[in-house]
Amino acid sequence: MGSETLPMNHEERGGVCRSGQTRALAELSRFVYKRAAMIKNLPVRTLNHKALTIEGYSRAAVQSYWRIPELKLGFDLGGSPWSFLGTRHWFVTHAHLDHLAAIPVFVARRRMMKMEPPVIHLPQEVVEGVQRILQAWQRVDRGRMVCDLVGVKPGDEIELSREHVVTCFPTRHTVPSVGYVVWDRRKKLRPDLQGLSQNEIRERRLAGEDVTHEVRVPLVCYTGDTAPAGLDADPAVYQAQVLITEMTFYRPEHRKEKIHKFGHTHLDDILERANRFQNELIILSHFSTRYLEKNVRAAVEAKLPAALRERIHLWA
Ligand SMILES: [Zn+2]
Ligand SMILES: [Zn+2]
Repeated sequence: MGSETLPMNHEERGGVCRSGQTRALAELSRFVYKRAAMIKNLPVRTLNHKALTIEGYSRAAVQSYWRIPELKLGFDLGGSPWSFLGTRHWFVTHAHLDHLAAIPVFVARRRMMKMEPPVIHLPQEVVEGVQRILQAWQRVDRGRMVCDLVGVKPGDEIELSREHVVTCFPTRHTVPSVGYVVWDRRKKLRPDLQGLSQNEIRERRLAGEDVTHEVRVPLVCYTGDTAPAGLDADPAVYQAQVLITEMTFYRPEHRKEKIHKFGHTHLDDILERANRFQNELIILSHFSTRYLEKNVRAAVEAKLPAALRERIHLWA
């Protein structure tokens, strides 16, 4: 995993202004942002699942952007809703315009609001190109583009905090792409020590032994655009409490072979895998603009078994 950083000075990097005057300006900007957070420049839908809030919008060839405030991260930057500005950590699945076009706007707005530079993870193959795009915008807009672009590849692991870690898995699309799993991690007593008394455990700990092991639970999986091979690429896709994936096509005449060649998933692919989904919530999104929501809903109702259907939420 390589980290590419656009040119910036120390003041900008920390996102903290040195002088009292600029600090006051930063506070004023944050105040204005909070007061102005009701600006609705783009559609955002919201769904709650247990302790998580899933916010976003996704339509093929239009735009995809998602955010989970409790995890302090977002997925894809096809659009940049004003309300998402406070989220600093982003995980982009691929560089198609409907998933990344808003990056200059997002980066510039955070700087304008005196917020810390965002950290944007994206497939390592596109880091250099995206960096050049931002530099070109910097020249024509004459505002500095300050952000950390972090290239990732399947198998990478990114520490978000003590409680959360993100892993990358391969997806199959027409351009370099990855999917992401956000894990909750806890330290638990090692299973082989479970029969021991508190005193014995404390003695072992004091003697320098690590009495804990890490237990991970996959909370959220976001695949981005992918042929069904991406669903099958990582067991955590089917195990995550919340799965956000794509179902670009549902109509029988949109032949599966063609769809797979273009790197998308069809309702039939979901049906074929019906027994594998252990997820509590499955969000299907990124519908083709050719479809009406009511028709997608009718097809899902007619084709998918009830046990799967009742966990599915259509994001249209
Ligand atoms: Zn897309
Ligand atoms: Zn795409």
